[in-house]
This record gives sequence, structure tokens and C-alpha cells, in this order.
Amino acid sequence: MLRAPKLLRMSTQMAATVAEARVPGHFVPEIMKSSSTAGQGTCITVRLTPNRSYPFGPSPPSLPKKPLKITFDMGVTPSLSTSAVGTSLNFISHGHVDHLMGMFGHARSRRMMNRDTDGIYYMPKGLVEVVNDIRSCVKRLDDKSEMKGGGGGGEEFEDGMDVVGVEAGVEFCIWSGKNKEDGGVFCTPFEVDHVADGEGGGECRSLGYFLKSRFRKRVLKKEYEGFEGKEIGKLKREKVKVYDEEIVEVPIITYTGDTSAGGITMVRPGGGGSVLADAFRSEIVLCELTYLEGGEEKSRGMAEERKHMHVDSLDEVFRSHGWDREGSNQKVVFFHVSAKHGTSHMAGKKLKANIPGFLEGRAGLVNNEWWQGKGGAVLWV
Ligand SMILES: [Zn+2]
Ligand SMILES: [Zn+2]
Repeated sequence: MLRAPKLLRMSTQMAATVAEARVPGHFVPEIMKSSSTAGQGTCITVRLTPNRSYPFGPSPPSLPKKPLKITFDMGVTPSLSTSAVGTSLNFISHGHVDHLMGMFGHARSRRMMNRDTDGIYYMPKGLVEVVNDIRSCVKRLDDKSEMKGGGGGGEEFEDGMDVVGVEAGVEFCIWSGKNKEDGGVFCTPFEVDHVADGEGGGECRSLGYFLKSRFRKRVLKKEYEGFEGKEIGKLKREKVKVYDEEIVEVPIITYTGDTSAGGITMVRPGGGGSVLADAFRSEIVLCELTYLEGGEEKSRGMAEERKHMHVDSLDEVFRSHGWDREGSNQKVVFFHVSAKHGTSHMAGKKLKANIPGFLEGRAGLVNNEWWQGKGGAVLWV
């Protein structure tokens, strides 16, 4: 049985170069058919396809053979039993049941499909204890319902779950190749503003997740530029160091989970260095958005009170991350729209009417109607 990768802290010795989000980086992120409605269920699956034509230099690192598939949140939704079911890497933002309760069914479906790896469920550290309690209840339920004459879960019951508690600001590796030194894909959770401190204190707070790739790149030293392959080979045999090494980091995708606008706004506009600042340089930002009533006081109050996003806050949030600047080309996909806005297509029209000008043409909505044959995974507005 495969266990969760060890948590790796980011090495401070690595002189990392955070590249501006450009297409394509080490991986190309793509949102698969997903579902998300406020209070009903959120489950978003993303495919990260390795970009084999990336200029890694002379000894490229090993990349995953197949695209990596990850899921953000595990509400009970149509996408849970379709696009999410094959996914072993799952990130849970907080303990509200519409974001978490599907994980038990998800693990069960994976077992039925004879997946040979456990589902790994990353979540805020403070939730692990209560989730493990639910797991044992689910096991008891399955044991009690064992079929007569065997064939059920029985004494060998394994739920196929690996529950891993994570903390804001502590990076961990979710994929690396044979040679771990070469790099891989890393995740850093960051604190947002949604769930108040519960029993687990700050450890229960909602998390957003920021994924980036980091690979070692070899470049020929200046003094050997223009040398022929034969000459380089000769120098290498003589143990001359012909390459300089640099570490290249590329932000891939960010998931905010549920949050108020204050939770994801940069306090110092344009300020860098924090996880939140780097997260908003990802190629795609999946951003919560519940209320779409532009210019309406009442819903703005509700967003503030319930700690959710309102369409009127988008200008301030995205401006604080420099998305209004010339050359800014990242994309945002909103999720968690309230059911009162109707179908995704209807909500998309409201969104289009109310988003700030600088987001036009680069904003979309998770399409809840894909399973009815209406459009793709994202409705771009
Ligand atoms: Zn929610
Ligand atoms: Zn919530």
C-alpha cells in the first residue's frame, strides 16, 4: 500500500527563481468536468499535463508518465463519481460537509475499482481527529452490513484512505521523479478567512492550496558557450564542471477554498514574498465566488457575515495582486456560486455583467451543467 509522500520543508539554500506565470511551464493545468454550488457541494478536478518540450537543458528530469490528477474538495456532487474517482491526490479546504463528506464514498469507489494506491486526503491538521472518528464509524457501518456468507468488507476491512494533516506555510511534495534532487511538484497551503477557530484552534481554519513545480536546470557555463559537443564531452571526462545549475520554480494552480475577500487580498498592494502573493501568480486561480448581485448592499453584508466572496470585491482583490497591470495574463475560474443564481449559463451572464474590465476574457465559471451535455468544464465569460 502506498503511503503519503513525506512532508518536505522548502530548503532555504535553494536559490529559487520564481518565474512569471507563462504558458507553458513545466506542467499545463486544465480543469476537468467539475461541480460546485454554495452549500450543496464542491468537488473540482484538475489535470496537470507534463510539458515535455519545456527547455530543461541537457539532462532533463524524469517527468510523470501520465498527467497528474488532483481534486480540490470532496463534496457529494456528480463530478465526485466521474472525474474525481480516479484521483488519488485530494486537497480539502475546510470541514464544512459540502466540501468534505464525499471523501468516504470516493475512497469506497476507488476500492471497488481496484485502485492499487490509497486515496491521499490532505486537510487542515485540526480536522484529522474528527475525520478519523468518522472513518471508524463508516467502518463499523460497513462491518455491520456485511453480507451473509462473506463477500462484504468483513474483518479485513481497509478503507483505502490516507488522511494527512497540513499547515499553512509548510510546503510538501506531492510528486517527484526517481531522482528527488531533480525536483517535482510541491504544494504550500495558505491561510484564508472562512472558518472561525473551532475545537482544534487555528489548526481547523480554512486553507487555500498553491501548487508549483520546481526543477533543476543545467545551463552551459559562459566560458564554454560555443564549444562543440565533442569538446564538452572531453571536458566532462576530465571532471571539469561545465554546467551551472539553477532552480526554476513555476506557479501552476491555486485553489482558494471558501474565503472572505479580506482573506485573499494583499495588504500591501504588489507586495511579494508571501505564499498568497506567489499563489496569485499561478497560471490558473480557482477562486470562490458566492454572490453575484453587483452593487447590492444586502448581499454584500451577507458575504461579509458568512465569510464568502461577493462580485463587488473582485476589483480590490485582483487589483491587489497586480492583475490590472499590462501584461498580466493569468486566468481565474470562479466556483461556489449560490444556487439562487440559477443555471451556470444564467450565472455566467450575471458574472459577465459585473466583473471588472481587466478580468474580461480571462474569467470563467465552473460549469455545473456539463453532465446535462451543456458546455465544457469551464464557462468562459
Ligand atoms: Zn462552501
Ligand atoms: Zn464553508
